[in-house]
Amino acid sequence: MADPFDLVVIGSGPGGYVCAIKAAQLGLKVAVVEKRKTYGGTCLNIGCIPSKALLYASERFEEAGHSFAELGIVAEPKLDLAAMMSHKDKTVKSNVDGIAFLFKKNKITGVIGTGRIKSAGEVEVTKDDGSTETLQARNICIATGSDVAGIPGVDVKFDDKTIVSSDHAIALDKVPEAMVVVGGGVIGLELGSVWARLGAKVTVVEYLDKVLGPMDGEVSTAFQKLLVKQGLKFHLGAKVTAVEAKDGGAAVTFEPAKGGEAETLNADVVLVATGRKPYTEGLGLEEAGVSLDNRGRVEIDQHFKTNVDGIYAIGDVVKGAMLAHKAEDEGVALAEILAGQAGHVNYDAIPSVVYTSPEVASVGKTEEELKEAGVEYKVGKFPFMANGRARAMLQTDGFVKFLVDAKTDRVLGCHILGADAGDMIAEAALLMEFGGASEDLARTSHAHPTLSEAMREAAFAAFAKPIHI
Ligand SMILES: Cc1cc2nc3c(=O)[nH]c(=O)nc-3n(C[C@H](O)[C@H](O)[C@H](O)COP(=O)(O)OP(=O)(O)OC[C@H]3O[C@@H](n4cnc5c(N)ncnc54)[C@H](O)[C@@H]3O)c2cc1C
Repeated sequence: MADPFDLVVIGSGPGGYVCAIKAAQLGLKVAVVEKRKTYGGTCLNIGCIPSKALLYASERFEEAGHSFAELGIVAEPKLDLAAMMSHKDKTVKSNVDGIAFLFKKNKITGVIGTGRIKSAGEVEVTKDDGSTETLQARNICIATGSDVAGIPGVDVKFDDKTIVSSDHAIALDKVPEAMVVVGGGVIGLELGSVWARLGAKVTVVEYLDKVLGPMDGEVSTAFQKLLVKQGLKFHLGAKVTAVEAKDGGAAVTFEPAKGGEAETLNADVVLVATGRKPYTEGLGLEEAGVSLDNRGRVEIDQHFKTNVDGIYAIGDVVKGAMLAHKAEDEGVALAEILAGQAGHVNYDAIPSVVYTSPEVASVGKTEEELKEAGVEYKVGKFPFMANGRARAMLQTDGFVKFLVDAKTDRVLGCHILGADAGDMIAEAALLMEFGGASEDLARTSHAHPTLSEAMREAAFAAFAKPIHI
């Protein structure tokens, strides 16, 4: 029998591939099993990366048609959707090829096929041609990610053209005239923004009475107003009861969540973006005795171990935020644990970003969460309108908001609505990782003129007074 692998990872998304690379770097013998033709998981193939390529390109298109004139640039942009899609495809290819290269470089055995756990210590891989191979493993990591969730209680028949999930909303071959997005969360608003910028009339139908459910309420309200200014329409507090193909397009029927009259919207394309569910199909978990929780996620302890010795799980398939960097952090921590080190993830300092224009980014607690927990806090806010660089860039929408402990000044949360928020949030995450206070940030020199000066000013506002307002 061949020498067993120290670790066999099932799934090559940001959780799986990062865990594999880190484990190999730490000297373990590693294999990765992936059922897709390319590595990189949802994130690189059909998620984060392609959506960001389209968000970037469509934002430039929108700018060229609108704000360029104010900057003294006369342009009449013309959309070449096929070329935009080709930019997205090339971006995906270079990223997934990069993972294959990293596997080789780190001497990781990549196996393309569907993995099934036969028992602790054995992963059976079924390949495209039907042949099977069994890998012996001292440890197994389940990193099989997530899949599109439908609408609870509604029979949605995805046809990938008129009724689509995000998997196909990143690959439409023409701009729909009218698009209905079911779900006002991150994915719905990002992809809704892409198609709105390219010319679609986009209407969002959301069950909750706010967009971006768990985000800070003040940020979510201000953000929605900006999206309305950009032409998106919203039906909040609306429960979708049917999504049906109709006259070559599709129809969405909804009623007020609190009860009331139903309404129907017709569209060329309906994007159902109501969230994702953990993916464990065909993995053989029941036979292997691996427990799931009541939401179908693989149950783990604080060291990512399932109830079965030698079987671990990370990423979207376990509890916590469904975010690529959360999966990556868990991948690193698990590899370190398996190599005898002290791997750890600080779940209180994981940022999350919405890559719209402007961006929305947050880390730590929201004001609502602090109120509910009875924590005494102070708020420090600064608007981009008062930031010189933002004015020069015509990016004055939004603000930075710090939430700090009223007694100790320790930063408890940071929320940014504004250009480049997704990059700037890293500063707040680092500060929180070190248990920092708003004064620490306010006393740190920030280059002028930068958008990040708004971070410093908001921090000043939390512990003393901002200068520029
Ligand atoms: C449209 C969209 C945009 C997104 N944008 C962002 C973003 O900007 N930022 C962010 O942080 N997150 C984003 N996400 C979420 C992010 O993609 C996920 O959180 C992340 O991919 C989870 O990583 P993972 O490794 O747990 O699983 P995945 O990336 O889902 O990878 C799991 C892999 O396992 C494979 N697999 C499953 N079962 C088997 C099996 N039995 N055998 C072999 N292989 C198997 C799958 O084929 C898949 O490749 C986005 C998601 C979507 C859909």
